[in-house]
Amino acid sequence: MLVENFVVQSPNVTYSEESITSTYNYESTKLSRDEKGQWIVTPTSTEYQFRVDRRVPKLGVMLVGLGGNNGTSVMAGILANKHGITWMTKDGLRKPNYWGSLTQAATLRVGNYEGEEVFTPFRSLLPMADPNQFVLGGWDISSLNMAEAMERAKVLDFELQKQLVPYMKDIVPLPGIYDPAFIAANQEERADNCIKGSRQQQMETVRQQIRQFKENNAVDKVIILWTANTERYAQVAEGLNDTAENLMAAIAADEPEVSPSTLYATAAILEGVPFINGSPQNTFVPGLIELAVAHNVLIGGDDFKSGQTKMKSVLVDFLVGAGLKPTSIVSYNHLGNNDGMNLSAPQTFRSKEISKSNVVDDMVASNSLLYEPGEHPDHCIVIKYIPYVGDSKRAMDEYTSEIFLGGTNTIVMHNTCEDSLLAAPIILDLIILAELLTRIELKKDGEPAFHGFHPVAVLLSYLTKAPLVPQGTPVVNALAKQRAMLENILRACVGLPPENNMMMEFKC
Ligand code: NAD
Repeated sequence: MLVENFVVQSPNVTYSEESITSTYNYESTKLSRDEKGQWIVTPTSTEYQFRVDRRVPKLGVMLVGLGGNNGTSVMAGILANKHGITWMTKDGLRKPNYWGSLTQAATLRVGNYEGEEVFTPFRSLLPMADPNQFVLGGWDISSLNMAEAMERAKVLDFELQKQLVPYMKDIVPLPGIYDPAFIAANQEERADNCIKGSRQQQMETVRQQIRQFKENNAVDKVIILWTANTERYAQVAEGLNDTAENLMAAIAADEPEVSPSTLYATAAILEGVPFINGSPQNTFVPGLIELAVAHNVLIGGDDFKSGQTKMKSVLVDFLVGAGLKPTSIVSYNHLGNNDGMNLSAPQTFRSKEISKSNVVDDMVASNSLLYEPGEHPDHCIVIKYIPYVGDSKRAMDEYTSEIFLGGTNTIVMHNTCEDSLLAAPIILDLIILAELLTRIELKKDGEPAFHGFHPVAVLLSYLTKAPLVPQGTPVVNALAKQRAMLENILRACVGLPPENNMMMEFKC
Protein backbone atom coordinates (compact mmCIF):
# COMPACT_ATOMS: atom_id res chain seq x y z
CA MET A 1 0.00 0.00 0.00
CA LEU A 2 1.24 3.50 -0.85
CA VAL A 3 0.48 6.57 1.26
CA GLU A 4 1.34 9.86 -0.41
CA ASN A 5 1.44 11.89 2.81
CA PHE A 6 1.70 11.42 6.55
CA VAL A 7 2.47 13.35 9.72
CA VAL A 8 4.56 12.01 12.58
CA GLN A 9 2.94 12.17 16.00
CA SER A 10 5.62 12.16 18.67
CA PRO A 11 6.76 14.29 21.61
CA ASN A 12 10.11 14.47 19.78
CA VAL A 13 8.73 16.12 16.64
CA THR A 14 7.23 19.55 16.13
CA TYR A 15 5.85 21.01 12.94
CA SER A 16 5.57 24.75 12.36
CA GLU A 17 4.68 26.72 9.23
CA GLU A 18 8.36 27.14 8.52
CA SER A 19 10.10 24.08 9.86
CA ILE A 20 10.04 20.52 11.17
CA THR A 21 12.14 19.99 14.28
CA SER A 22 13.00 16.59 15.67
CA THR A 23 14.98 15.34 18.62
CA TYR A 24 16.69 12.11 17.80
CA ASN A 25 18.79 9.61 19.73
CA TYR A 26 21.56 8.29 17.56
CA GLU A 27 22.48 4.78 18.70
CA SER A 28 25.99 3.68 17.83
CA THR A 29 29.04 1.98 19.37
CA LYS A 30 32.39 2.98 20.75
CA LEU A 31 35.36 0.65 20.53
CA SER A 32 38.28 0.44 22.91
CA ARG A 33 40.82 -2.11 24.22
CA ASP A 34 41.56 -2.85 27.85
CA GLU A 35 45.03 -3.32 29.34
CA LYS A 36 45.01 -7.02 28.31
CA GLY A 37 44.25 -6.09 24.70
CA GLN A 38 40.63 -7.28 24.94
CA TRP A 39 38.33 -5.40 22.57
CA ILE A 40 35.46 -3.66 24.35
CA VAL A 41 32.38 -2.53 22.45
CA THR A 42 30.18 -0.03 24.26
CA PRO A 43 26.77 0.92 22.90
CA THR A 44 26.36 4.73 22.81
CA SER A 45 23.40 7.05 22.49
CA THR A 46 23.83 10.67 21.43
CA GLU A 47 21.05 13.22 21.18
CA TYR A 48 20.76 15.25 17.99
CA GLN A 49 18.27 17.86 16.98
CA PHE A 50 17.37 18.30 13.32
CA ARG A 51 15.56 21.30 11.88
CA VAL A 52 14.30 21.24 8.29
CA ASP A 53 13.11 24.37 6.57
CA ARG A 54 9.79 23.38 4.98
CA ARG A 55 9.79 26.24 2.47
CA VAL A 56 10.80 24.79 -0.89
CA PRO A 57 12.43 27.54 -2.95
CA LYS A 58 11.85 28.43 -6.58
CA LEU A 59 14.88 26.56 -7.86
CA GLY A 60 17.21 27.50 -10.70
CA VAL A 61 19.29 24.65 -12.10
CA MET A 62 22.33 25.35 -14.24
CA LEU A 63 23.95 22.42 -16.03
CA VAL A 64 27.47 22.65 -17.40
CA GLY A 65 27.18 20.65 -20.63
CA LEU A 66 23.49 21.52 -21.15
CA GLY A 67 23.65 20.65 -24.85
CA GLY A 68 25.05 17.15 -24.32
CA ASN A 69 23.21 13.83 -24.24
CA ASN A 70 22.51 14.07 -20.52
CA GLY A 71 21.70 17.78 -20.60
CA THR A 72 19.19 17.46 -23.43
CA SER A 73 17.65 14.33 -21.86
CA VAL A 74 17.16 16.19 -18.57
CA MET A 75 15.49 19.12 -20.28
CA ALA A 76 13.37 16.91 -22.53
CA GLY A 77 12.32 14.74 -19.60
CA ILE A 78 11.24 17.69 -17.49
CA LEU A 79 9.29 19.26 -20.37
CA ALA A 80 7.61 15.98 -21.29
CA ASN A 81 6.53 15.44 -17.68
CA LYS A 82 5.52 19.03 -17.09
CA HIS A 83 3.37 19.23 -20.21
CA GLY A 84 2.14 15.62 -20.09
CA ILE A 85 3.47 14.91 -23.58
CA THR A 86 2.68 11.40 -24.81
CA TRP A 87 4.04 9.80 -27.97
CA MET A 88 3.48 6.77 -30.15
CA THR A 89 6.07 4.07 -30.70
CA LYS A 90 5.79 0.73 -32.46
CA ASP A 91 4.93 -0.69 -29.02
CA GLY A 92 2.03 1.71 -28.47
CA LEU A 93 1.46 4.95 -26.58
CA ARG A 94 4.23 6.08 -24.20
CA LYS A 95 3.73 8.40 -21.24
CA PRO A 96 6.46 10.44 -19.57
CA ASN A 97 7.71 9.37 -16.15
CA TYR A 98 10.64 9.84 -13.79
CA TRP A 99 11.65 6.19 -13.54
CA GLY A 100 15.19 5.78 -12.32
CA SER A 101 14.91 8.69 -9.92
CA LEU A 102 15.19 7.74 -6.26
CA THR A 103 13.24 10.79 -5.12
CA GLN A 104 10.53 10.61 -7.79
CA ALA A 105 10.03 6.92 -8.49
CA ALA A 106 11.19 4.99 -5.41
CA THR A 107 9.44 4.35 -2.13
CA LEU A 108 10.41 3.57 1.44
CA ARG A 109 8.64 1.65 4.14
CA VAL A 110 6.86 3.62 6.85
CA GLY A 111 5.29 0.73 8.74
CA ASN A 112 2.56 -1.87 8.80
CA TYR A 113 -1.18 -1.18 8.78
CA GLU A 114 -3.42 -4.09 9.75
CA GLY A 115 -0.96 -6.63 8.42
CA GLU A 116 -0.17 -4.81 5.19
CA GLU A 117 3.19 -3.19 4.55
CA VAL A 118 2.87 0.57 3.94
CA PHE A 119 5.22 2.58 1.76
CA THR A 120 5.57 6.23 0.88
CA PRO A 121 7.28 7.92 -2.06
CA PHE A 122 10.82 9.01 -1.18
CA ARG A 123 9.83 12.55 -2.15
CA SER A 124 7.12 12.56 0.55
CA LEU A 125 9.53 12.08 3.42
CA LEU A 126 10.49 15.75 3.55
CA PRO A 127 9.51 18.77 1.44
CA MET A 128 11.57 18.51 -1.77
CA ALA A 129 11.78 20.54 -4.97
CA ASP A 130 9.59 19.28 -7.82
CA PRO A 131 11.59 18.72 -11.03
CA ASN A 132 8.61 19.93 -13.09
CA GLN A 133 9.11 23.34 -11.48
CA PHE A 134 12.86 23.64 -12.10
CA VAL A 135 14.01 26.70 -14.03
CA LEU A 136 16.63 25.05 -16.21
CA GLY A 137 19.56 26.64 -17.99
CA GLY A 138 23.31 26.36 -18.27
CA TRP A 139 26.37 26.33 -20.43
CA ASP A 140 27.72 24.50 -23.43
CA ILE A 141 30.77 25.09 -25.57
CA SER A 142 28.60 24.08 -28.54
CA SER A 143 26.17 26.72 -29.80
CA LEU A 144 23.44 24.39 -31.05
CA ASN A 145 20.03 25.27 -29.68
CA MET A 146 18.48 22.65 -27.41
CA ALA A 147 16.23 21.18 -30.10
CA GLU A 148 19.17 20.66 -32.45
CA ALA A 149 21.27 19.34 -29.57
CA MET A 150 18.52 16.83 -28.71
CA GLU A 151 18.51 15.65 -32.31
CA ARG A 152 22.32 15.35 -32.30
CA ALA A 153 22.13 13.25 -29.12
CA LYS A 154 19.95 10.56 -30.80
CA VAL A 155 18.61 9.43 -27.44
CA LEU A 156 14.86 10.03 -27.53
CA ASP A 157 12.14 8.55 -29.74
CA PHE A 158 11.59 10.68 -32.83
CA GLU A 159 7.88 11.25 -32.10
CA LEU A 160 8.75 12.62 -28.67
CA GLN A 161 11.49 14.84 -30.10
CA LYS A 162 9.07 16.27 -32.67
CA GLN A 163 6.71 17.44 -29.94
CA LEU A 164 9.50 18.89 -27.82
CA VAL A 165 11.08 20.98 -30.59
CA PRO A 166 8.79 24.00 -30.07
CA TYR A 167 9.73 24.10 -26.37
CA MET A 168 13.49 23.73 -26.95
CA LYS A 169 14.36 25.42 -30.24
CA ASP A 170 14.74 28.92 -28.78
CA ILE A 171 16.95 27.88 -25.87
CA VAL A 172 20.66 28.28 -26.57
CA PRO A 173 23.18 27.39 -23.85
CA LEU A 174 25.37 30.13 -22.41
CA PRO A 175 28.92 30.20 -23.76
CA GLY A 176 31.22 28.03 -21.65
CA ILE A 177 34.86 27.81 -20.62
CA TYR A 178 36.77 25.71 -23.14
CA ASP A 179 40.33 24.51 -22.70
CA PRO A 180 41.40 21.91 -25.29
CA ALA A 181 44.16 20.77 -22.95
CA PHE A 182 41.60 19.14 -20.64
CA ILE A 183 39.26 17.21 -22.96
CA ALA A 184 39.94 15.05 -26.02
CA ALA A 185 41.14 16.77 -29.20
CA ASN A 186 38.12 15.24 -30.98
CA GLN A 187 35.83 17.72 -29.18
CA GLU A 188 37.33 20.77 -30.86
CA GLU A 189 34.86 20.77 -33.74
CA ARG A 190 31.87 21.52 -31.52
CA ALA A 191 33.58 24.22 -29.45
CA ASP A 192 32.07 27.33 -31.07
CA ASN A 193 30.45 28.91 -28.01
CA CYS A 194 33.30 29.81 -25.70
CA ILE A 195 34.09 32.49 -23.13
CA LYS A 196 37.18 34.44 -24.05
CA GLY A 197 39.87 35.83 -21.78
CA SER A 198 42.23 34.73 -19.03
CA ARG A 199 41.19 32.22 -16.37
CA GLN A 200 40.37 35.05 -13.98
CA GLN A 201 38.20 36.72 -16.63
CA GLN A 202 36.48 33.44 -17.53
CA MET A 203 35.71 32.74 -13.88
CA GLU A 204 34.35 36.28 -13.42
CA THR A 205 32.18 35.84 -16.53
CA VAL A 206 30.69 32.66 -15.07
CA ARG A 207 29.96 34.49 -11.80
CA GLN A 208 28.21 37.18 -13.80
CA GLN A 209 26.22 34.57 -15.78
CA ILE A 210 25.04 32.97 -12.51
CA ARG A 211 23.88 36.31 -11.11
CA GLN A 212 22.14 37.18 -14.37
CA PHE A 213 20.37 33.81 -14.51
CA LYS A 214 19.18 34.28 -10.95
CA GLU A 215 17.89 37.74 -11.67
CA ASN A 216 16.31 37.01 -15.07
CA ASN A 217 14.37 34.07 -13.67
CA ALA A 218 13.67 35.45 -10.20
CA VAL A 219 14.75 32.19 -8.58
CA ASP A 220 15.42 31.93 -4.84
CA LYS A 221 18.29 29.47 -5.14
CA VAL A 222 20.55 28.00 -7.81
CA ILE A 223 22.29 24.62 -8.01
CA ILE A 224 25.04 23.98 -10.58
CA LEU A 225 25.88 20.50 -11.85
CA TRP A 226 28.71 19.45 -14.18
CA THR A 227 27.53 17.04 -16.86
CA ALA A 228 30.04 18.23 -19.45
CA ASN A 229 32.77 16.08 -20.95
CA THR A 230 35.12 14.16 -18.74
CA GLU A 231 38.32 16.12 -18.31
CA ARG A 232 41.77 14.71 -17.73
CA TYR A 233 43.04 14.96 -14.17
CA ALA A 234 44.54 18.30 -13.22
CA GLN A 235 47.95 18.12 -11.62
CA VAL A 236 47.79 18.71 -7.86
CA ALA A 237 50.85 20.50 -6.58
CA GLU A 238 52.03 22.43 -3.59
CA GLY A 239 51.73 26.16 -4.22
CA LEU A 240 49.36 25.58 -7.17
CA ASN A 241 46.00 24.35 -5.92
CA ASP A 242 46.73 22.81 -2.52
CA THR A 243 45.09 25.64 -0.57
CA ALA A 244 42.24 28.03 -1.32
CA GLU A 245 44.64 30.93 -1.34
CA ASN A 246 47.00 29.22 -3.78
CA LEU A 247 44.12 28.23 -6.05
CA MET A 248 42.86 31.81 -6.21
CA ALA A 249 46.42 33.00 -6.95
CA ALA A 250 46.78 30.34 -9.67
CA ILE A 251 43.57 31.53 -11.31
CA ALA A 252 44.76 35.14 -11.15
CA ALA A 253 48.09 34.07 -12.70
CA ASP A 254 46.28 32.19 -15.51
CA GLU A 255 48.03 29.00 -14.47
CA PRO A 256 47.41 26.34 -17.23
CA GLU A 257 46.76 23.49 -14.76
CA VAL A 258 43.52 25.06 -13.48
CA SER A 259 40.82 23.15 -15.36
CA PRO A 260 37.55 24.58 -16.71
CA SER A 261 35.54 22.48 -14.22
CA THR A 262 37.53 23.93 -11.32
CA LEU A 263 36.88 27.44 -12.67
CA TYR A 264 33.10 26.86 -12.80
CA ALA A 265 33.18 25.36 -9.31
CA THR A 266 35.19 28.28 -7.95
CA ALA A 267 32.71 30.73 -9.49
CA ALA A 268 29.81 28.77 -7.97
CA ILE A 269 31.35 28.75 -4.50
CA LEU A 270 32.12 32.45 -4.61
CA GLU A 271 28.47 33.02 -5.55
CA GLY A 272 27.32 30.79 -2.67
CA VAL A 273 25.89 28.24 -5.11
CA PRO A 274 26.21 24.46 -4.53
CA PHE A 275 28.25 22.62 -7.17
CA ILE A 276 27.99 18.93 -8.06
CA ASN A 277 30.46 17.12 -10.29
CA GLY A 278 28.91 14.34 -12.41
CA SER A 279 32.14 13.40 -14.17
CA PRO A 280 35.19 11.59 -12.82
CA GLN A 281 37.91 14.26 -13.02
CA ASN A 282 39.43 15.88 -9.93
CA THR A 283 37.53 19.16 -10.18
CA PHE A 284 37.66 19.30 -6.39
CA VAL A 285 41.38 19.86 -5.93
CA PRO A 286 42.35 20.38 -2.27
CA GLY A 287 42.28 24.19 -2.61
CA LEU A 288 38.75 24.08 -3.96
CA ILE A 289 37.53 21.88 -1.10
CA GLU A 290 39.11 24.34 1.32
CA LEU A 291 37.34 27.19 -0.46
CA ALA A 292 33.96 25.41 -0.24
CA VAL A 293 34.47 24.74 3.47
CA ALA A 294 35.54 28.36 4.10
CA HIS A 295 32.44 29.67 2.31
CA ASN A 296 30.24 26.90 3.71
CA VAL A 297 28.92 26.01 0.25
CA LEU A 298 27.82 22.46 -0.57
CA ILE A 299 29.93 20.46 -3.03
CA GLY A 300 29.28 16.88 -4.12
CA GLY A 301 30.62 14.29 -6.54
CA ASP A 302 32.18 12.57 -8.32
CA ASP A 303 30.84 10.82 -11.46
CA PHE A 304 27.22 9.68 -11.76
CA LYS A 305 26.74 6.07 -10.63
CA SER A 306 24.37 4.91 -13.34
CA GLY A 307 24.95 1.44 -14.78
CA GLN A 308 27.92 -0.88 -14.56
CA THR A 309 29.31 0.59 -11.35
CA LYS A 310 25.90 0.54 -9.72
CA MET A 311 25.65 -3.18 -10.46
CA LYS A 312 29.19 -3.67 -9.16
CA SER A 313 28.42 -1.89 -5.90
CA VAL A 314 25.51 -4.29 -5.42
CA LEU A 315 27.03 -7.53 -6.65
CA VAL A 316 30.37 -7.33 -4.87
CA ASP A 317 28.61 -6.29 -1.66
CA PHE A 318 26.41 -9.37 -2.01
CA LEU A 319 29.32 -11.72 -2.77
CA VAL A 320 31.60 -10.51 0.02
CA GLY A 321 28.62 -10.21 2.37
CA ALA A 322 27.73 -13.85 1.62
CA GLY A 323 31.24 -14.99 2.48
CA LEU A 324 32.29 -15.62 -1.12
CA LYS A 325 35.61 -14.22 -2.31
CA PRO A 326 35.65 -12.24 -5.58
CA THR A 327 39.16 -12.66 -7.01
CA SER A 328 38.77 -11.23 -10.50
CA ILE A 329 36.47 -8.50 -11.80
CA VAL A 330 36.77 -7.61 -15.47
CA SER A 331 34.56 -4.88 -16.92
CA TYR A 332 34.30 -4.06 -20.61
CA ASN A 333 32.25 -1.18 -21.96
CA HIS A 334 31.58 0.04 -25.41
CA LEU A 335 29.55 3.07 -26.30
CA GLY A 336 29.15 5.31 -29.32
CA ASN A 337 27.98 8.66 -28.03
CA ASN A 338 30.03 11.83 -27.67
CA ASP A 339 31.03 10.81 -24.13
CA GLY A 340 32.51 7.62 -25.62
CA MET A 341 34.35 9.59 -28.27
CA ASN A 342 35.81 11.89 -25.63
CA LEU A 343 36.82 8.90 -23.48
CA SER A 344 38.73 7.39 -26.41
CA ALA A 345 41.64 9.71 -25.53
CA PRO A 346 43.99 8.09 -22.98
CA GLN A 347 44.04 11.03 -20.53
CA THR A 348 40.25 11.30 -20.21
CA PHE A 349 39.88 7.50 -20.10
CA ARG A 350 42.32 7.50 -17.18
CA SER A 351 39.96 9.75 -15.16
CA LYS A 352 37.13 7.26 -15.75
CA GLU A 353 39.36 4.30 -14.97
CA ILE A 354 40.27 5.79 -11.60
CA SER A 355 36.67 6.56 -10.60
CA LYS A 356 35.55 3.07 -11.60
CA SER A 357 38.44 1.30 -9.87
CA ASN A 358 38.02 2.06 -6.18
CA VAL A 359 34.42 1.02 -5.99
CA VAL A 360 34.98 -2.37 -4.35
CA ASP A 361 37.57 -1.24 -1.80
CA ASP A 362 35.29 -0.82 1.21
CA MET A 363 33.61 -4.20 0.61
CA VAL A 364 36.96 -6.01 0.35
CA ALA A 365 38.23 -4.22 3.46
CA SER A 366 35.11 -5.27 5.39
CA ASN A 367 36.00 -8.97 5.31
CA SER A 368 39.49 -10.01 6.31
CA LEU A 369 38.25 -13.56 6.84
CA LEU A 370 38.48 -13.74 3.05
CA TYR A 371 41.26 -11.31 2.16
CA GLU A 372 44.77 -11.08 3.60
CA PRO A 373 45.92 -7.56 4.50
CA GLY A 374 46.73 -5.74 1.24
CA GLU A 375 45.08 -8.44 -0.89
CA HIS A 376 42.67 -7.23 -3.54
CA PRO A 377 40.78 -8.84 -6.44
CA ASP A 378 42.23 -8.32 -9.92
CA HIS A 379 40.12 -5.49 -11.30
CA CYS A 380 40.31 -4.29 -14.90
CA ILE A 381 38.25 -1.71 -16.78
CA VAL A 382 38.15 -1.33 -20.54
CA ILE A 383 36.18 1.31 -22.48
CA LYS A 384 35.98 1.35 -26.27
CA TYR A 385 34.33 3.85 -28.61
CA ILE A 386 32.03 2.11 -31.09
CA PRO A 387 30.05 4.80 -32.95
CA TYR A 388 27.34 2.42 -34.22
CA VAL A 389 25.84 1.71 -30.78
CA GLY A 390 25.35 5.44 -30.05
CA ASP A 391 23.97 6.14 -26.59
CA SER A 392 23.00 2.50 -26.12
CA LYS A 393 25.95 1.54 -23.98
CA ARG A 394 27.05 -2.06 -23.59
CA ALA A 395 28.65 -3.20 -20.37
CA MET A 396 30.03 -6.72 -20.03
CA ASP A 397 31.30 -7.91 -16.69
CA GLU A 398 32.90 -11.11 -15.50
CA TYR A 399 33.06 -11.75 -11.76
CA THR A 400 35.05 -14.75 -10.61
CA SER A 401 34.90 -15.78 -6.96
CA GLU A 402 36.54 -18.49 -4.95
CA ILE A 403 33.95 -20.51 -3.05
CA PHE A 404 33.68 -23.53 -0.70
CA LEU A 405 36.51 -26.09 -0.77
CA GLY A 406 38.42 -24.66 -3.73
CA GLY A 407 35.44 -24.24 -6.04
CA THR A 408 35.10 -21.34 -8.47
CA ASN A 409 32.01 -19.35 -9.31
CA THR A 410 31.99 -17.15 -12.43
CA ILE A 411 29.13 -14.76 -13.07
CA VAL A 412 28.91 -12.99 -16.43
CA MET A 413 26.63 -10.03 -16.99
CA HIS A 414 25.67 -8.21 -20.15
CA ASN A 415 23.94 -4.88 -19.77
CA THR A 416 22.54 -2.82 -22.66
CA CYS A 417 20.98 0.52 -21.89
CA GLU A 418 20.58 4.10 -23.12
CA ASP A 419 23.22 5.71 -20.97
CA SER A 420 21.63 9.14 -20.79
CA LEU A 421 18.25 7.77 -19.73
CA LEU A 422 19.94 6.24 -16.70
CA ALA A 423 21.92 9.39 -15.94
CA ALA A 424 19.17 12.01 -16.34
CA PRO A 425 17.04 10.86 -13.36
CA ILE A 426 20.21 10.66 -11.25
CA ILE A 427 20.97 14.27 -12.18
CA LEU A 428 17.50 15.25 -10.95
CA ASP A 429 18.07 13.40 -7.66
CA LEU A 430 21.46 15.03 -7.11
CA ILE A 431 19.89 18.45 -7.55
CA ILE A 432 16.81 17.76 -5.45
CA LEU A 433 18.79 16.19 -2.61
CA ALA A 434 21.54 18.83 -2.69
CA GLU A 435 18.90 21.53 -2.41
CA LEU A 436 17.20 19.69 0.45
CA LEU A 437 20.50 19.29 2.31
CA THR A 438 20.95 23.07 2.25
CA ARG A 439 17.67 23.36 4.21
CA ILE A 440 18.63 20.90 6.96
CA GLU A 441 20.33 22.07 10.13
CA LEU A 442 21.44 19.94 13.05
CA LYS A 443 22.78 20.29 16.54
CA LYS A 444 24.56 17.62 18.55
CA ASP A 445 23.92 17.43 22.29
CA GLY A 446 26.10 20.13 23.89
CA GLU A 447 26.50 22.25 20.76
CA PRO A 448 25.31 25.83 21.28
CA ALA A 449 23.58 26.41 17.92
CA PHE A 450 22.19 24.74 14.81
CA HIS A 451 24.48 24.45 11.80
CA GLY A 452 24.39 22.74 8.40
CA PHE A 453 25.96 19.42 7.43
CA HIS A 454 29.63 19.48 6.45
CA PRO A 455 29.79 21.21 3.02
CA VAL A 456 31.21 18.07 1.41
CA ALA A 457 27.90 16.29 0.81
CA VAL A 458 28.52 12.63 1.69
CA LEU A 459 24.77 12.03 1.63
CA LEU A 460 24.86 12.18 -2.17
CA SER A 461 27.11 9.08 -2.26
CA TYR A 462 24.30 6.79 -3.43
CA LEU A 463 24.30 8.67 -6.73
CA THR A 464 28.04 8.87 -7.40
CA LYS A 465 30.74 6.39 -8.42
CA ALA A 466 33.56 7.90 -6.39
CA PRO A 467 31.92 9.62 -3.43
CA LEU A 468 33.60 12.80 -2.30
CA VAL A 469 33.86 12.76 1.50
CA PRO A 470 35.35 15.12 4.08
CA GLN A 471 38.91 14.24 5.04
CA GLY A 472 38.98 11.35 7.51
CA THR A 473 35.46 10.10 6.68
CA PRO A 474 35.28 6.42 5.59
CA VAL A 475 34.20 6.03 1.95
CA VAL A 476 31.19 3.75 1.54
CA ASN A 477 30.56 2.38 -1.96
CA ALA A 478 28.08 -0.43 -1.24
CA LEU A 479 24.80 0.75 -2.74
CA ALA A 480 22.45 -0.56 -0.05
CA LYS A 481 24.50 1.07 2.71
CA GLN A 482 24.59 4.35 0.82
CA ARG A 483 20.85 4.29 0.43
CA ALA A 484 20.32 3.34 4.07
CA MET A 485 22.52 6.25 5.21
CA LEU A 486 20.51 8.73 3.18
CA GLU A 487 17.12 7.26 4.01
CA ASN A 488 17.80 6.93 7.73
CA ILE A 489 19.13 10.46 8.12
CA LEU A 490 16.11 11.87 6.29
CA ARG A 491 13.86 9.70 8.49
CA ALA A 492 15.61 11.08 11.57
CA CYS A 493 14.71 14.59 10.40
CA VAL A 494 11.03 13.73 10.88
CA GLY A 495 11.63 11.71 14.02
CA LEU A 496 11.28 8.26 12.46
CA PRO A 497 13.57 5.45 13.61
CA PRO A 498 16.07 3.99 11.13
CA GLU A 499 14.69 1.14 9.03
CA ASN A 500 16.19 -1.83 10.90
CA ASN A 501 14.18 -4.60 9.20
CA MET A 502 13.78 -6.41 12.55
CA MET A 503 9.95 -6.63 12.28
CA MET A 504 9.65 -7.67 15.91
CA GLU A 505 5.87 -7.11 15.69
CA PHE A 506 5.71 -10.48 13.92
CA LYS A 507 8.22 -12.47 15.92
CA CYS A 508 6.17 -13.53 18.98
P1 NAD B 1 28.09 14.57 -24.00
O1 NAD B 1 29.42 14.59 -24.63
O2 NAD B 1 26.91 14.21 -24.84
O3 NAD B 1 27.77 15.99 -23.37
C1 NAD B 1 28.73 16.80 -22.79
C2 NAD B 1 28.48 18.24 -23.24
O4 NAD B 1 29.39 19.08 -22.56
C3 NAD B 1 28.72 18.45 -24.73
O5 NAD B 1 27.58 19.04 -25.32
C4 NAD B 1 29.92 19.39 -24.78
O6 NAD B 1 29.85 20.30 -25.85
C5 NAD B 1 29.82 20.09 -23.44
N1 NAD B 1 31.07 20.61 -22.86
C6 NAD B 1 32.29 20.04 -22.84
N2 NAD B 1 33.15 20.80 -22.13
C7 NAD B 1 32.45 21.86 -21.69
C8 NAD B 1 32.76 22.98 -20.87
N3 NAD B 1 34.00 23.13 -20.42
N4 NAD B 1 31.81 23.88 -20.61
C9 NAD B 1 30.54 23.72 -21.09
N5 NAD B 1 30.17 22.67 -21.84
C10 NAD B 1 31.12 21.76 -22.13
O7 NAD B 1 28.23 13.60 -22.75
P2 NAD B 1 27.07 12.96 -21.84
O8 NAD B 1 26.77 11.60 -22.36
O9 NAD B 1 25.97 13.93 -21.66
O10 NAD B 1 27.87 12.76 -20.49
C11 NAD B 1 28.26 13.89 -19.75
C12 NAD B 1 29.25 13.52 -18.66
O11 NAD B 1 28.61 12.69 -17.72
C13 NAD B 1 30.48 12.78 -19.16
O12 NAD B 1 31.62 13.26 -18.50
C14 NAD B 1 30.22 11.38 -18.73
O13 NAD B 1 31.40 10.63 -18.51
C15 NAD B 1 29.48 11.62 -17.43
N6 NAD B 1 28.74 10.44 -17.02
C16 NAD B 1 27.70 9.97 -17.77
C17 NAD B 1 27.01 8.84 -17.36
C18 NAD B 1 25.83 8.29 -18.12
O14 NAD B 1 25.30 7.28 -17.78
N7 NAD B 1 25.38 8.95 -19.15
C19 NAD B 1 27.40 8.17 -16.21
C20 NAD B 1 28.46 8.67 -15.47
C21 NAD B 1 29.11 9.82 -15.89
